[in-house]
Parts: sequence; C-alpha cells; structure tokens
Amino acid sequence: MKIIIQLTYLRKLVPDSPSSSSSPHTIHIYESHRPRDTIASASHDAAGQTAISIAALSTSTQTVGGGLGVSPNGMRILNDISPFLHAAVTAQGFPCEKFIFMGENGWTLGVSTTGDKGGYEAPSGREEFCVSSLRAGLWACLKNHVDETYGTDVVRYEKVVNVVQQAASGKKAVVVFKDGREEEADLVVGADGVKSVVRRGLFGDGNFEPVYTGASGIGGVIHGPLPARVADNKAMVFTFGRKGFFGYASSAPASANSLMWWSTFDTESVPSKTTNLDAAEIKVGLLERHGASADPVIRNIISQAEVQSIYPTWVMPDLPHWGEKGIVLIGDAAHALSPTTGQGASQALEDAQICALLLAETLKKAYSDSGTGAQENGSLEGNEKAALALTLKLFYEIRHGRVAAIRERGKKIDRGKKNMSVVEEYVVYCFLKLMMLFTPIAKFVLGDVNAELYGWSAKAEVKKALASLGDSQA
Ligand SMILES: Cc1cc2nc3c(=O)[nH]c(=O)nc-3n(C[C@H](O)[C@H](O)[C@H](O)COP(=O)(O)OP(=O)(O)OC[C@H]3O[C@@H](n4cnc5c(N)ncnc54)[C@H](O)[C@@H]3O)c2cc1C
Repeated sequence: MKIIIQLTYLRKLVPDSPSSSSSPHTIHIYESHRPRDTIASASHDAAGQTAISIAALSTSTQTVGGGLGVSPNGMRILNDISPFLHAAVTAQGFPCEKFIFMGENGWTLGVSTTGDKGGYEAPSGREEFCVSSLRAGLWACLKNHVDETYGTDVVRYEKVVNVVQQAASGKKAVVVFKDGREEEADLVVGADGVKSVVRRGLFGDGNFEPVYTGASGIGGVIHGPLPARVADNKAMVFTFGRKGFFGYASSAPASANSLMWWSTFDTESVPSKTTNLDAAEIKVGLLERHGASADPVIRNIISQAEVQSIYPTWVMPDLPHWGEKGIVLIGDAAHALSPTTGQGASQALEDAQICALLLAETLKKAYSDSGTGAQENGSLEGNEKAALALTLKLFYEIRHGRVAAIRERGKKIDRGKKNMSVVEEYVVYCFLKLMMLFTPIAKFVLGDVNAELYGWSAKAEVKKALASLGDSQA
C-alpha cells in the first residue's frame, strides 16, 4: 500500500532534474500480487474439508491482517496527499471516534477518544479519527488515486526476487524480477513488507530476519445490525481475556451492517506457508478461548464466525540503518511493529511522507547548487547522489527513535494479551482500569499516548533536521 503512497509523494514533491535527459524522474511501482489473486480464500484439502490456505497471507497488503485501522496521524497524511483520497478512504470505512477497552468478565475498563486535531499541521483544526476498514478497501482507494492522477500503467504487477546495491564503481542499484529481467534505479524504495526481498539485498541473506511473536491472529466479517456499543459510540471494542484478545468494529459505513472481528492467541509454532490449517479446528479453539465471554456480541460473533484467515504476527529486530547505496526500506520492511500498536500502516505512511520530503529538499538544493556550479564529484549526477545519501541518513535519524518508542509501548500492551492465570487476568484488568480512571498516572506510566502518536509532525522534523545541518555547516 505504501509503495503507492511513496509514488504520490514523490510525484507531488520531488523537483524535476534540470538535465533534460532525465526529466521528469521515472517512477515505477512493482507489486507482486494482482488484486484478484490476493483475496484470502478457503481451499479444500484432500478429504474435502475446508481448510485455510495461508500461502499468500504474509506477503500481500490486501490480506495481511484482513482489516485495519488508520490512525489520525495516518489519516492526516492521506489528506496531505489529496483531500479526495482522504475523503475516499473515510467514505469506504468506519470512522471510530472511541476505543472501548473491556475485560472478558464484562467490565468496561476504559474508554479513550481517538480524535486529534494535530497541532499546527492541521491549521483548520479539523479533528481526525481512526478509520477502520478492510485492507482491500484501503488498497483500492490508493490504487484508484494513482490510476486517476498518474495513469493506469504506473502500478506494474511483477515480483521482485532480488535487489543488488550500487557498486563502488558508481553502478546503480539493480532490481531483478522473477522472469530474470533486470532494471537499474537511482533509488529502490523497499516497501515490500515484513518478508522484504529488498531488505535481503541491503543486508544479505539470513541477516536481520523477522521474529515470530508467538501469537497469531484470526479474523473475519459478519453481517447484520451493528452492536449498539459500536454504532452508538462510533467505537472499536478491544476485549482482554485470560486466553487471548478479541476485538470488533465496523469495517464499512454503519449502513453496510458489516462487523469486522479479530482475535489473537498464542501458537508456539508458526503457521507456515506449507501448512493448511483446519478452519473447524480453529473455530473450536476460538470457542474454547472466548465462548464464555460476558459480552453477548463476542458470543454472537463466534457462533456465526467463519474463520477466513490466519495471520502469524512478526516483528523486526532493530536494524542498524534503513538504507544506503541506492536502497531504502520503509514500513514493515524496516520496522514491522506488533499489531497491538495499531500504528503499522500509519508509521509506513509517515516513512513515505518524510522520505519524500527529504528527497525533495535535498534534490532542490542539489539542483540549485548545480545551477551555481557548486558540484560534488564535478557533476549534476554527483550532486544527485549526495542528495540521495543525505536523504537516507536523515531519514533514519529522524524516524528511528519515534518507531522504537512505539515498539516499546507495544511490548507493554502485548504482555496483557498473553495467556494469563485468573490472578494475572484481574491484575491486568485493575491496572487498565486504574490507568483509564486516573489519566495522570497513565501519562506517567505510558506517556501522553495520543499526543505522542498523533501530534508528531513530519514537516517540522524535516525542517529541524535541515536547519541543524545548516547550523553545523555554518
Ligand atoms: C493481524 C494484523 C493486524 C494489524 N492491524 C493493524 C491496524 O489495525 N492498524 C495498523 O496501522 N496496522 C496494523 N497492522 C500492521 C500493518 O498491517 C502493517 O504495518 C502495514 O500493512 C505495513 O505496510 P507495508 O506497506 O510496509 O507492508 P505490506 O502492507 O505488507 O505491503 C507490502 C507490499 O509489497 C508487496 N510485495 C511483497 N513482496 C514483494 C516482491 N518480492 N515483489 C513485489 N511486491 C512485493 C506485497 O504484495 C504488498 O502489497 C496489522 C498487522 C497484522 C498482522
């Protein structure tokens, strides 16, 4: 998804080269899955039993996680690209104004608003909310935006199998495709998810592999009138229990009566691409974990649910950098976060925004230096290369700390999702309830989460970084 965002930002912000031979910059997006290939589908095993094929799930944007919420910081970025894109994403989804936290015993542990006005980056003071939707819906909005704005031939369906870094000889980075074709690029943006091929090109095979969290998610959609807790409060509901976690929210405008649900549970072994999991068995597990929930909505969902997909969850270890020599990683490829953070997509959007802003600023300087004859390595190309290198360096410096802080917060919340004893369960409930009741304590323990997550400004960060460069050169 963010590959597309990156394109729209690059096209919108990055200046054309003054050299007529390379103006405007050529930007290609390669996507391994055609839309119709990516819908998670039930398959039938030899015995004719319905089983879940997870072959495509870990690699495709449209199926990884089934549905998701784009937080206010992500929504603001969509608006920055185009108010029409923002409107389209909002219209196909369900703006959640509140998060409601429940215990499986029926206690309401707390309610928090998702609304954020975004400080100075939203001078109109318009409040942004978390918008939940199916991934396929979000993906379609982004793809439509690219098709309508830049043409239908921009997104190309080809699988990348390898990326080779720029050589010291000055050779460009090379992208290798499944059919053996190769293409050179000044910059390869690896927005190819947690199992990134581009990351392998950057760090070498077997280095910095994603780590399985020990938990997997399942989810789906049921149809029928929305529960009052969701419809009346415009809410996403999170329930913590002794044997796992259960969430539900609408995945479409309320009138569509489409209730999305998801649940995580501990699974020691990773469901693998070669494994076919029995849907009936998964449903039995769901019933065992949540069938006695005090929330009738959960019991109702489970009674109707067809397990449509399973999502092993992966996180990335800390990388020493996110790019060099003509390659950069963004989104999950660089820093897959626990789904608990609810920030994976929004952090990918922030990456795309900041990377493009930096590239625009450094290239503008490179081109104006070329105009005045101030050239590195004696050429316009040398100036462009230096601009790219500076972009990658600043990109990591600006983004790394922010993402690390979000990862750490996710780890704290994940502890509350692991299997627990009854005593631990009630300790977690009491802890969460206290946090919600006494905001100052919560702020002391967890920080001012909304302000930190939603109030961050890419534009301000880029300005600061460039100003400090100017200072250090003065
Ligand atoms: C169960 C679950 C629930 C989640 N819930 C949320 C949520 O509510 N909110 C949230 O913000 N985040 C959530 N996340 C995290 C979120 O899904 C990711 O952080 C986000 O999708 C990352 O976007 P990305 O573009 O970096 O990677 P992806 O979305 O994985 O996209 C990668 C793209 O690259 C393509 N690709 C991969 N390999 C190749 C190749 N070799 N050649 C060409 N193309 C390739 C894929 O087809 C895909 O389109 C959740 C994750 C999970 C697992």
